[in-house]
Amino acid sequence: MLAETTRSTPLTSAPNAALLFPTLTSAQIARIASHGATRPVTRGELLIEGGETDVPFFVLQAGAIEVIRPSGLGDLLVAVLRPAQFTGDVSMILGRPAQMRLIVSESGEVVQLTRDQMHALIQTDAEISEVLLRALIHRRIAMVAQGIGDALLIGSGRSGATLRIKEFLTRNGHPFKYLDLDRDADVQDLLDRFHVDRAEMPVLICRGAAVLKRPSNQEIAHRLGFNERIDLAQLRDVVIIGAGPAGLAAAVYAASEGLDVLVIEASSPGGQAGSSSRIENYLGFPTGVSGQELTERAYAQAQKFGAAVMIANGAAELSCERMLYGVRLEGGTTIPARSVIIATGARYRRPALANLQQFEGAGVYYSATSMEEAQLGDDDDAIVVGGANSAGQAAVFLARRGRRIHMLVRSHSLAASMSQYLIRRIEETATIQVRTRTEIIALDGNEHLERVEWRDGSGAVTSHDLRHVFLMTGAEASTGWLNGRVALDANRFIKTGPDLTPEDLAAAQWPLARSPHLLETSRPGVFAVGDVRSGSTKRVAAAVGEGSAAISLVHRVLAAGNPRRGQT
Ligand SMILES: Cc1cc2nc3c(=O)[nH]c(=O)nc-3n(C[C@H](O)[C@H](O)[C@H](O)COP(=O)(O)OP(=O)(O)OC[C@H]3O[C@@H](n4cnc5c(N)ncnc54)[C@H](O)[C@@H]3O)c2cc1C
Repeated sequence: MLAETTRSTPLTSAPNAALLFPTLTSAQIARIASHGATRPVTRGELLIEGGETDVPFFVLQAGAIEVIRPSGLGDLLVAVLRPAQFTGDVSMILGRPAQMRLIVSESGEVVQLTRDQMHALIQTDAEISEVLLRALIHRRIAMVAQGIGDALLIGSGRSGATLRIKEFLTRNGHPFKYLDLDRDADVQDLLDRFHVDRAEMPVLICRGAAVLKRPSNQEIAHRLGFNERIDLAQLRDVVIIGAGPAGLAAAVYAASEGLDVLVIEASSPGGQAGSSSRIENYLGFPTGVSGQELTERAYAQAQKFGAAVMIANGAAELSCERMLYGVRLEGGTTIPARSVIIATGARYRRPALANLQQFEGAGVYYSATSMEEAQLGDDDDAIVVGGANSAGQAAVFLARRGRRIHMLVRSHSLAASMSQYLIRRIEETATIQVRTRTEIIALDGNEHLERVEWRDGSGAVTSHDLRHVFLMTGAEASTGWLNGRVALDANRFIKTGPDLTPEDLAAAQWPLARSPHLLETSRPGVFAVGDVRSGSTKRVAAAVGEGSAAISLVHRVLAAGNPRRGQT
C-alpha cells in the first residue's frame, strides 16, 4: 500500500469482475497502442488525481495500478488493475472530472491515450468500442449501486429537498453515498467536522472538501463539473432543447452524422421516460426496461459520438436575429445556432390543491421509481391519481410487494386512456382498487402528508389517513419559455409542417417560397419533435422516431444555406 487507504473487497475481486474489468487481447492492445504512446511507469507515480479534467486513458501492459476513491472521510481502495486491463469510467466519455485517483503500485509499462485519442478510437474501432463502453457502463452501474463516488449526501429521508438531490444525482448517473440524518448514528460527528448545522440540511459534500448547503441542481452540476467542457460561444450546427428520448435520439443521429451538436437540458437527461419504473412496449425489450436504464444508455451513446450535453441549465428564450438563431439559457448566456430542435416534451399538470407545494417530496410525488418507493414504509398504502399508462405503471409497480393502492380516476373507466396490457395487470392485482369518477380535493399534514380527502362519483367526501400520493394527471406542453416565438395549437403544443395554416405562417412572417418541412415549426430551421409537438403520439418510440427523423431535415436546411429568418 502506498497511502493510508481503507481496504474493502475491491471491485476487481467482485463476482462480476470479468464484466467490469475485462482483459484485452494482445491484438486489441496493439490496435489501441497505434492511437497513443507506450511508456514505462514507476511505483508511486500518480497517473490521475480525483477531480482532474481531460484525464488520459491507460491500458496496463506490465505492473499494477491502484484505483482509489479520494475522500476527506478516508480514501477507499476501489480496484487493482493488472496487465491487459484498462482504466476509466463513464466520466471520461461524459467529459466530467475524474472521480478516482490512480497510482502505480507496481512498476511496469502502459499504453497512454489522451481523451481525444480515446474518443477517436471508440468512434472508429467498433470491436474495441464495444469492449470499452460495456465495461465503463458496468463500472458506473457498480459504483452507483455501491455508492462509491466523490459525493456524500446528508439529509433527512422525510425532506423533499433530499429526495430532489437524490433524484438529480441518480438521473445524472452520478454515484453518491447517502447518510440519513434521522437514522445514521455517525452523522453528528460528520456535521461537526464540516461545521454544518442541522438547519442547513441537506448538504452535499463533494470530494471530501466542498460543502454545499441546500444546493440547487444548478449548483450541484457546477460543483461536480457536469458542464465543464462545454464551449458556450461556439456556433453550433444544431442546438437541441430537451434531453428526453426525442432530444437524445436527435443528438445521437446528429453527432453520429458529423454535425456539431449541443443539447440543453433544464433538469436531468431522460425526461418523462427517465421517471418510468418499467417501459414494456418499447421495441426490442421484450421483458421491459426501466426508463432510467434506457435513457442512461442513450445519454452515453450521444456523448460517445461527440454531442455536448448541458445539464441543469434550461432554455429561457429563442431569439431569431439576422441570419442565426440564439438560445438564451436560464443562466443568461446566449448560444448561437444554425438550426434548433425543440424537444422540451411535457410535464404533469399540478392539480389545484391548496397546500400542494408544501408536500412535494414529502408525501406527494410525480414519478414512481425505486427512489420514491424508498420513501414509503413496507406497510404504507398509497394513492395513485390518473388514468393513463404512467398511472397504471405506477400502481402495478407500487403494489408488487402487497401494498394497497387506491387508483383515483376522474373518468368512468380506464379503457379510454390506458393500454390493455396494463388494464389487465391492474385487474389481476387484488391489492389495487380502482375508484372511477373520484377526485382528490384536499391534502393535510404537518412536515409530511398525513391525510387526504377525496370526492367520489356520488359527491360524497371522505377523509383517509394516507401518507403517499403519486400524481400522474394529464400532461401540459413545456412551451411557456417560447413566449410566442413559434405557432402553437389551442393546447399550447407546437404546430409543425402541414398543421401550420397560411395564417400561422403569415403571422410568423415565414420568409421562404417553400412550405415548412414535416417537423418544421413556423420558423425555418426550427423543428419540434416528441411530446411537445402538436398531434404527436405520446410514446417513447414515437419521440425517438421523430428525434431521429428531424436530423435528415436539419441536413436539408443546412445544405440550402441560411434562409432569411424573419424578425424577432
Ligand atoms: C411515468 C411515465 C411512464 C411512461 N411510460 C411509458 C411507456 O411505458 N411507454 C411509452 O412508450 N411511453 C411512456 N411514457 C411516455 C413517454 O415517456 C414520453 O412520451 C416521452 O418521454 C416523450 O419524450 P420527449 O423527449 O418528447 O419529452 P420528455 O420525455 O418530456 O423530455 C423533455 C425534456 O425536456 C426538458 N425541458 C423542458 N423544458 C426545457 C427547457 N426550457 N430547456 C431545456 N430543457 C427543457 C425536460 O426537463 C425533459 O428532460 C411514460 C411517461 C411517464 C411520465
